[in-house]
Amino acid sequence: MKKLKDSIFQQLSAVADQLNVETYVIGGYVRDLYLERPSKDIDVVTVGSGIELAKAVAISLKPAPNVNYFKNFGTAMLKYNDLEIEFVGARKESYQRDSRKPIVEDGSLQDDQNRRDFTINALAICLNAERFGELLDPFNGLDDLHNKVIRTPLDPDITFSDDPLRMMRAIRFATQLNFEIEANTFQSIAKNKKRIKIVSAERIIDELNKIVMASKPSTGFKLLEETGILELIFPELQKMKGIEVVKGIGHKDNFYHTLEVLDRIVPNTDNLWLRWSALLHDIAKPATKKFVEGQGWTFHAHNFVGVKMIPKIFRRMKLPLNEKMKYVQKMVQLHMRPIVLSEDVVTDSAVRRLLFEAGDDIDDLMTLCEADITSKNEAKAKRYMKNFKLVRKKLKEIEEKDAVRNFQPPVDGGLIMKTFDLQPCREVGLIKDAIKDAILDGEIHNNYEEAFEFMLKKAVELGLKPVN
Ligand code: ATP
Repeated sequence: MKKLKDSIFQQLSAVADQLNVETYVIGGYVRDLYLERPSKDIDVVTVGSGIELAKAVAISLKPAPNVNYFKNFGTAMLKYNDLEIEFVGARKESYQRDSRKPIVEDGSLQDDQNRRDFTINALAICLNAERFGELLDPFNGLDDLHNKVIRTPLDPDITFSDDPLRMMRAIRFATQLNFEIEANTFQSIAKNKKRIKIVSAERIIDELNKIVMASKPSTGFKLLEETGILELIFPELQKMKGIEVVKGIGHKDNFYHTLEVLDRIVPNTDNLWLRWSALLHDIAKPATKKFVEGQGWTFHAHNFVGVKMIPKIFRRMKLPLNEKMKYVQKMVQLHMRPIVLSEDVVTDSAVRRLLFEAGDDIDDLMTLCEADITSKNEAKAKRYMKNFKLVRKKLKEIEEKDAVRNFQPPVDGGLIMKTFDLQPCREVGLIKDAIKDAILDGEIHNNYEEAFEFMLKKAVELGLKPVN
């Protein structure tokens, strides 16, 4: 039996007894207590009014916290120290076929446990003094916790059909906790997969992002694929699966390659958008795939086509269409550059250009490229990694010397117009670009004097004269 250690539980217990209502801590907090995963979210269920209990608890605490009431749902939430406590009256739910919105009635603790998604999420511990600490586990959730199993408390067809989001949740918990989905539960997901269509994109992406942020996201994507959910929510990724062979030549399976890249990037970044970049870096490979005689399989310009596919994917999935998306597009566009660079002699000019295009995201780009090396040929993989080390070293040296990472031209369009008494015109653009190229190619250094001098020279070539 696990102990509820935080003093807040004594407080909840005293208030519940004062109001004379059966009260339990339930769900994720209890599950995580047994898994020894620290948790700050406490769900309290009471056989009575959650709102009344929350009010009374708030008054009893010093200093008294603010309470948010959600009258429509009969729930209330308060924050105390670093805890978030949600109160709800025990309820019974019944569902209609075409909606996730249940008909809700007051119910017993058992009714409330029946409406939970998984046995491991239906555990409850009593808070009333007389039975303080007693575990109520009607579905043997504790056994499932020990055996690392995700299973629905009721017939899975009912649980999933009632609220199909639970199919995503099953896969998400299996990924986060490294649990197996029990066979019946798994088959039921495959059977009910089409019901995912009634779930909003926002709820789906919440779960998908949790999978992406897990320590081994490939587990979740493989389960999504095996249950048939992936093709419904992310058809572009599904299309990456499979190998084609022409004249005895096959290409690698881009689905599994992508998942490997995603898993490989996990230890090196907690940035959700860099992880999404890993997931999307080859997304246009199916669209650009071609077998060319003498060359084998090619995926010409798959990075540029990928950049174009991203807004549609982000819009449909309700991912942000702002600078986060632009960042992912930049990563996808540039993801082959460091490798091409490292295959050749690493010239200063190529490094400067890469720095100029990647700007502050250069380190993230290198992290992505390193994760992209999934070659099973050890010698080859080693060579690439060694070359990347060299590229990183060069990047550092050049940045220290030339500062082109966030390139601002030392001579700008305004100065060019003033010097030659010009209105905005083609020549101004030509001179500006020529200065930028001269700096990136290392012809001149990134400073005002050399850039001004170069501008004068370039202007003469264009037949312009400075005004005094
Ligand atoms: P996490 O905090 O990692 O998301 P959690 O289990 O605490 O995990 P919440 O979404 O906060 O997840 O849900 C709290 C509890 O509410 C769950 O443990 C479960 O008992 C119940 N629950 C949440 N969503 C559903 C659902 N769609 N169907 C049935 N029960 C659910």
